[in-house]
Amino acid sequence: MTAVALAGVSKVYNNTPVVDDLSFSIEPGEIFSLLGPNGAGKSTTIRMALGLTRASDGQIAVAGYDVARQPGQVRRAIGVVLQQVSVDIDLSVWENLEFHGRLHHIPPRERQQRIDRWLEYVELSDRRHDRVKTLSGGMKRRLQIARALLHEPQVLFLDEPTVGLDPQNRRRLWEIIRDLNRQGMTILLTTHYMEEVEFLCDASNTGRPGRIGIMDSGKLVELGTLAEFRRKYGEGLAIKQVGDRLESKFFPTLADANAYLEAVPDKTGLMVRPSNLEDIFVELTGHQLD
Ligand code: ADP
Repeated sequence: MTAVALAGVSKVYNNTPVVDDLSFSIEPGEIFSLLGPNGAGKSTTIRMALGLTRASDGQIAVAGYDVARQPGQVRRAIGVVLQQVSVDIDLSVWENLEFHGRLHHIPPRERQQRIDRWLEYVELSDRRHDRVKTLSGGMKRRLQIARALLHEPQVLFLDEPTVGLDPQNRRRLWEIIRDLNRQGMTILLTTHYMEEVEFLCDASNTGRPGRIGIMDSGKLVELGTLAEFRRKYGEGLAIKQVGDRLESKFFPTLADANAYLEAVPDKTGLMVRPSNLEDIFVELTGHQLD
């Protein structure tokens, strides 16, 4: 069964398509990143997949359930971490999880065991009685993850999971996300951080690297693994400083780029290196991500 399937999905706000004819699917165990600049339509896509906002056109299925017609089944099958902190900051860490566990009708003994297990996993056991408002941003995000996992979902949705976190907390969250995927959790995340995608899509539980869907202005402009992108656009890059601009040129391999460097008589301001996700993003969209 496909974990997430979008077919011809669009969303129109004020006569403008902010998501435009999007189609992709995610296999169980896969980690899939939707990458794009602010305003590309990533959050809207996730919100439609969660049933929080209705698609103007197209079909969405999550864990085999139709999002428009079977919202209850979809809700039980998914764990969600959205951008805005959705935990109750006036309740304690434990109370937030207890409340969520009750909402999902998890029996008391089982509920306590799972709360203990996930608090341990996200390293918040010693903060269980503290009010959420006393936690740091990174801790709040880890609590959101524990809560999203409490009812044992099949697919975890993460909307910009590390936005606003310092590098150390970001790294810690990446490790949690990667570990969850290695344990078999299917993950769909949105991000505008290149390094996040490069770290998380390195290897997926399917034994293959995670795929990346590049979004720009509501459209999916490229879909594949980083290795596939690099093969397609070129694994070697020559960059030349021209005034205050950088001009870049792709080559099939790094060796080809080096051969070009050797052959060019004027090597001023010219350098060669392996291509990365950012180079490919710029090549595709004509602009930087941030
Ligand atoms: P991203 O998550 O990639 O930053 P969003 O999905 O949040 O992008 O937004 C895509 C576009 O849709 C933006 O131009 C945004 O202003 C617009 N948009 C999002 N939500 C609404 C809404 N409720 N009403 C009108 N426009 C919206």
